[in-house]
Amino acid sequence: MTRELITSAQNTWCPGCGNFALQHTLKNLLSDRLREGKSLDDVVLVSGIGCHAKIADYLNINSFYSLHGRAIPAATAIKLANPALTVICCVGDGDAYAEGLDHLIFAAKRNIDITVIVHNNRVYGLTTGQYTPTSPLGFKGKSTPSGTAEYPINPIELLLASGGSFIARGYTRKMEPLKALIKAAVDHKGFSFIDVLQICATFFPAADYYDSRVYDLPASDKLSFETACTHAREWDYNSDARIALGIIYERSIPTFDDRMITLRLSKEVRERALRVFCETRT
Ligand code: SF4
Repeated sequence: MTRELITSAQNTWCPGCGNFALQHTLKNLLSDRLREGKSLDDVVLVSGIGCHAKIADYLNINSFYSLHGRAIPAATAIKLANPALTVICCVGDGDAYAEGLDHLIFAAKRNIDITVIVHNNRVYGLTTGQYTPTSPLGFKGKSTPSGTAEYPINPIELLLASGGSFIARGYTRKMEPLKALIKAAVDHKGFSFIDVLQICATFFPAADYYDSRVYDLPASDKLSFETACTHAREWDYNSDARIALGIIYERSIPTFDDRMITLRLSKEVRERALRVFCETRT
């Protein structure tokens, strides 16, 4: 049975927007899943608010359109309610690094088994071009006509400090490596995070800047935490250094959802033991 994975909803992304690359990368991954005989019934897409979030309208898959900055707690709740689900959470840089930053840090700290894909275009596109936490110093937009006066945050460094167990960076103009990254993130048992450099064709067309600086990390190398920190600091979103793409850090640790199941089970075991004890006493 074939399944149309792109919906008939009118697409309102600007021509040249990097969101198309993410949409088609996800569509190709879902198609692969169907070809392998797997169902899409156990996959849920959660989005935030922003240009990126329309992906929930454009992909024919179970989805939940959340509030601004609140996609990660919604995704966390979905995973805890049904741990068998594969939960993919698409968020914007405003969503993840401003309004919902605390949720991102705590999801990494807990190691909840969800995948967070940040469509990082480094600008608020939907509201026509205000600066975000990853806009470079001096960025001129609607709210900062003379340029920003603050440095951007470094999300890779932040996630390393927060205890993330899978931390990667992708680029919308490199779709095949991006697909491999998202597949590895979904397959990772635990919290997986991909910061995707997404071109905003209208308010931050940075393709030339990225094209001349990105390079691929060797796929076979598992990097130490110290080396990952070095790669994270190579580019602080403001300098002219090279930009590493690929899996920057990965480790295997118990997940929050597994721990919660164990706690629930042990509570049930305790309650059953108490019931048996009470029954034998009467
Ligand atoms: Fe894409 Fe930017 Fe247009 Fe939004 S404003 S749809 S991010 S190109």
